[in-house]
Amino acid sequence: MQKRLSVFFVTLIGLVLTAFVASFTYVSIEKRYLQKIESDVFQLQEKLAAELARYSEIPVVLSADPRLKRLLRAPESERLFNETNDLLSDWNARLNSDVLYLMNRNGMTVASSNVASETSFVGHSYHYRPYFQQATLGQKGQYYALGVVSDKRGYYFSYPVIDGDKVSGVLTLKVDLSIIERIWNQQQFDYLIADPLGVIFYSSRDEWLYQSLTILTEPQKQTIRDSRRYGDTKLRSLTTFSDADALSEKRKLSIANKNQEREMMLVSTTPLGTEGWQIYGFTSVSDSFPVVIQATFIFALFYALLVLVIAAWLQNVRTRKELARLNDDLEVKVASRTASLEETNSALRASISQYEKAQAALRQTESELIQAAKLAMLGEMSASINHEINQPLAAMRTYTENSLRLMEKARYADVGKNLSTINELIGLIADIIARFKVFARKQDVNSRNRADINAVISASITLSEASFIKKGIHVNCALSQEDLYVKADPVQLEQVILNLMSNAAHALSSVTDPTIGIETEVSADRVILHVWDNGPGLDNDTKKRIFSPFFTTKPEGLGLGLTICRRIIESFDGDLQAQDHTSGGADFTVTLQRLIEGKQRDDNRDLDY
Ligand code: ADP
Repeated sequence: MQKRLSVFFVTLIGLVLTAFVASFTYVSIEKRYLQKIESDVFQLQEKLAAELARYSEIPVVLSADPRLKRLLRAPESERLFNETNDLLSDWNARLNSDVLYLMNRNGMTVASSNVASETSFVGHSYHYRPYFQQATLGQKGQYYALGVVSDKRGYYFSYPVIDGDKVSGVLTLKVDLSIIERIWNQQQFDYLIADPLGVIFYSSRDEWLYQSLTILTEPQKQTIRDSRRYGDTKLRSLTTFSDADALSEKRKLSIANKNQEREMMLVSTTPLGTEGWQIYGFTSVSDSFPVVIQATFIFALFYALLVLVIAAWLQNVRTRKELARLNDDLEVKVASRTASLEETNSALRASISQYEKAQAALRQTESELIQAAKLAMLGEMSASINHEINQPLAAMRTYTENSLRLMEKARYADVGKNLSTINELIGLIADIIARFKVFARKQDVNSRNRADINAVISASITLSEASFIKKGIHVNCALSQEDLYVKADPVQLEQVILNLMSNAAHALSSVTDPTIGIETEVSADRVILHVWDNGPGLDNDTKKRIFSPFFTTKPEGLGLGLTICRRIIESFDGDLQAQDHTSGGADFTVTLQRLIEGKQRDDNRDLDY
C-alpha cells in the first residue's frame, strides 16, 4: 500500500515537473523565436529602406536632364522621341532597373526604355497612379503595384520634370525589387509586406499574396480593385481584425493558411518607408513543438533515471539493513544451535563412554562365557578322560597285584617285566593328563599365531574318540599329507573343532549309520577345514540365526557354542560358516590363513601335537 502510494506521488511529481519543464521550454523558445523574428524583420526593414532610398533618388537626378524637357516640349518630333527612348534604354540598362519611362503632364507615356518590346508603355496613360499624382505636385513619388501592361509587380519611383517653374512631365523608374526575395530567401521565417490597409503585396507564401490581413469593407475593396494596383484579386481577409494598426501590436496571430485553416503564428512587425507599409515576420507556433517535445522527453528520461537511481539506492540501503538483521538473527541462531550442539556433543560423549563401558563389560562377559563353555566342555570330556585313565589304572592294579604275588614267589624277572609294563601304563596316563592340561591351562601368548592343523585335528579326534565309539559314530577323517600350518592358537582351534564335532554328534543321535567327516581343502594362502555330518542338517531359519548368541534348539543348550567358535576364528582373521552337506547334514567350514613353512615360524614348538 505504501509502495503504491509512493509510486503514485513520484509519478505525480514527475508529471507536474514535466509539465512545468514543457511550459517553461515553450515560453523560452517562443521568446527566443520572437526575438529572432524581431531582429530579422528589423534587419530586413533596414536593408529595404536603404534600397528604396537609393532608388528614390535616381529619378530626382535623371529628371534634371534637359533632353527630357526637349521631348516634352516637342512631343511630335520623331528624332527627339527616338533619342529619348535610346537615352532611357541606356540609363535603364546601366541602372539594371525594370523600366524607365517619361510621361507628359497628363500622365501619357511619351518615351520609355521598353519601347521596343511588346509591352511598351508608350501611349499608355498612368495619370491615375498615385506616384504620378504625387510627382505632379512636385514631390518624390513612390508606389507599389502590378504593372497594368506588363502585369509584373514592381516598385515605382517618380519625380517631376520641371520646365521653368512648371511640371512638364514625370520621369518614373520601375524596379521589380527582386532584392526583397533575395534578402528574404535567406530567412527561416515567413514574411509579408502590407500596405496601410493591410493588403499584402509581398509575401514568402504565395497564398497570402494580394490578400488582406484585415477585414476590408466592400467599398474599400472596390476602391483597391479600381486602382488596379493589385490586379484582379479577391482580397480575402486572413485574420479577424479590421484595424491594421491593432494588428501591428500583436505578438501572436491566428492566420489562415493555404487550406483556409487557422494557424497560430508568432509575429513581429516594423514599419517600412514613408507609405505606411508594414513588414511582418511570422513563425508558426508549432515550430517550437519539436524542441518542446524533445526537451520534455529528455527531462522525463532524466527524471525516470533519477527516480530509478534513487529507488535502487533506497533498495540497496533497505537490503543492507535486512541483511544486517538476518545476520544478527543468524548469529543468535548459530549461538543457540552451537549450545544445543555442545549439549548433544557432551551427551554423545557420555553415550560413548557408556558404550565403551558396556563393551568392556561385554568382553568380560564373553571371556567369562568362553571360560564357562570351556568348563562345560571339560565336563563332557572328563567322562572320556576318566574312561581312558580307568583302563590303564585297572591294568596297573592287575599288574601290581600280579607283581606282588610274583615277588612272593621270587620271580623277579617277571616282576621287572610287569614293572616296565606299569611304567608304560603310567606314561600313557601321563600322556592323557598332559592333553587335558594343555586344554585347561592358560593360553600361551607366543603360540597364538601358529598351529599345525593336522596335529590339532588328530588331538581333537583322540579326545572325542571314546564318546564317539560309545555312540556308534564313525569318524571319516581325510587329512592332507603335507605339513600344514595356519594362523591360529592351537588350543582355541582344538576347542572349536571339539565344539563342532560335539554339535555334530548331538545332531546324529537318532540317525542310522551316523558319520562325522573332517576334511581339509588347501590352497596357496588358505586352509579350509570342513566338519560335516549326515544328520538332519540345518533349515533356512536355523542357518540365519545359528551364530546368534543364545540360539539353541536343545533343551539344555546355552546357544553360545557357535557364537564363541565364530569369535575365536574371527580373532585369527578367519571365517566360520554353516552350509548344507551333500549327505543332507550340516557342513561347518573354518577358513584360516595358511602359513608357509619357514615364514613367521614360531620358535616355541613344544605346543605342537
Ligand atoms: P548349543 O549347542 O548350546 O545349542 P550352539 O551354538 O553350539 O549352542 O548351537 C546352536 C544350535 O545350532 C544348536 O542348538 C542346533 O540346533 C544347531 N546345530 C549346531 N550344529 C548342528 C549340526 N551339526 N546339525 C544340526 N544342527 C546343528
